Amino acid sequence: MSTPVFLLRFQHSDPIDQTKNRLKKLFKTAGFDKIIEKNDVTAVKVHFGEPGNTSYLPHHYVEPIVRMIKSCNAKPFVTDTNVLYKSRRDNAIDHIEVAAEHGFTSEKLGAPIIIADGILGRNESEIEINAPLNKSISLATELVSAHSAIVISHATGHLTTGLGATIKNLGMGMSSRKGKLTQHSVSKPIISESKCTACGVCVNWCPVDAITVGDDFAFINEGICIGCGECLAVCRFNAVKFKWDSSSELLQKQIAEHALGIVKQKNGKMGFLTFMINMTKDCDCLAQKPISLIDDIGVLAGTDPVAIDQAVYDLTKKQTGKSLSQIAFPALNAQIQLEYGEQIGLGSREYRLVETEF
Ligand code: SF4
Ligand code: SF4
Repeated sequence: MSTPVFLLRFQHSDPIDQTKNRLKKLFKTAGFDKIIEKNDVTAVKVHFGEPGNTSYLPHHYVEPIVRMIKSCNAKPFVTDTNVLYKSRRDNAIDHIEVAAEHGFTSEKLGAPIIIADGILGRNESEIEINAPLNKSISLATELVSAHSAIVISHATGHLTTGLGATIKNLGMGMSSRKGKLTQHSVSKPIISESKCTACGVCVNWCPVDAITVGDDFAFINEGICIGCGECLAVCRFNAVKFKWDSSSELLQKQIAEHALGIVKQKNGKMGFLTFMINMTKDCDCLAQKPISLIDDIGVLAGTDPVAIDQAVYDLTKKQTGKSLSQIAFPALNAQIQLEYGEQIGLGSREYRLVETEF
């Protein structure tokens, strides 16, 4: 029998109290109260939003989930990991401040905010997966320490994977700095000499000082570059290019293997909530005020990350004729992460959509 994926339809403009109550019902309908046991320390994985970004999932969707975890007599903490690129989210001190500026405080959520990979992203645990690309992977220690986890994801386009949703939030979002570097090491960009204006903006964002600006154009030292993609995101002259086909395919496979690591480690004690509201071209890591590409659909809940992301793909395609990733980045094939995820045992693309009636 195919795995159920529950769909709660709502708009981000719906009354907040009404949405909160419906989310609590969804928590039970999806069986998350059976996954979380008494006295579990339960991670609630979120994305606090890059400073300047306006489309991240707001804290009021997280608070009812924290309450439901507490009603299971468990101990929730709300968490994310530090990022690779230059940002106030690259260390736990500033990261927690950014979270608070975006409304994610222990007072509002009813649970502590803990950055899962420590002050500088070095707190990591090695998990054996014996997958085709990696024998073992490096995950954020506190996510490994948690007995159970609820992963709250925001479905968006993504500039190097096409789709950023549940698998991306698991693989990249739950890894330590070393784990993120491993995933990104497969993708090195190049700068077009004819398009580059030598403005130097990318230099300020490169976390490892791999970019040098000459008189007429900038260039990347491939030996230093860690493939984080920041220069691609910040260049306003479309001068930075990835080798889309090979880079995106390998990156998606790396992300899927890292997602497999945390799913295996949790051994069934994980639930996923993936929101299809404010679906933007880029992910919430970019400091921008993006517009939605697709009308809001609602939120998906289930226990299979591949099934949920396949449902994101299918539901957005059904609504517009093209999937979210096809609209956001038509040159990328976002299905690679789904197909490879299924191949390595992360989940199944076969699912049964169950629309809730509350
Ligand atoms: S941001 Fe773009 S245009 Fe400016 S130096 Fe970097 S690659 Fe060149
Ligand atoms: S040059 Fe490499 S390391 Fe630097 S921002 Fe670009 S992708 Fe990241």
